[in-house]
Amino acid sequence: MSASKLVAESVWKSIESTRSVTEDQLSILHFLFGKNLERATRIVDQRGVKKLSGEPSGRSIFQVLGESRRKEEYFCFPEHYCACYSFFYDIVNKGEQLCCKHQLAARLAAALGACVEVKVSDEQLAQLLAKL
Ligand SMILES: [Zn+2]
Repeated sequence: MSASKLVAESVWKSIESTRSVTEDQLSILHFLFGKNLERATRIVDQRGVKKLSGEPSGRSIFQVLGESRRKEEYFCFPEHYCACYSFFYDIVNKGEQLCCKHQLAARLAAALGACVEVKVSDEQLAQLLAKL
C-alpha cells in the first residue's frame, strides 16, 4: 500500500471515531485529494450519498449523485470501485489518483454518518450488483 493511502486510512479512521472533521484533517485530505475533496464535500452537503444495505445480510453498496446536470447516480464501493468514467480513465488506466470524487464522497459521508440510509432486500441488492 502506498504511503498516501496509509495516511488517508488513518485520517478516515479518526474522522469515523469522532464523526467530525478538524481543520488539520481537512488540510491533509485536501493535500491528498485536491479538487476532488471539494467536489466530494459538495455531494455530501447535498445529501447525495445513499447507502443501500441488504437485509438480512447487512452487505452494502453506495449510490452517489454525480455533478452533471443529468443528476446521474453511480454505484460505488469506496475502497475499490466506482461505475463512473473517471474511475476507469483516471484511476484504473492512468493510476493518477487514489479514488474518484464519488468514492471520496461515499467515504466522507460514511465517516461522518451523513449517508441517506436505504434498506433493500438481499435479492434487490444482488440484482443491482449483477448489473454492474
Ligand atoms: Zn466515481
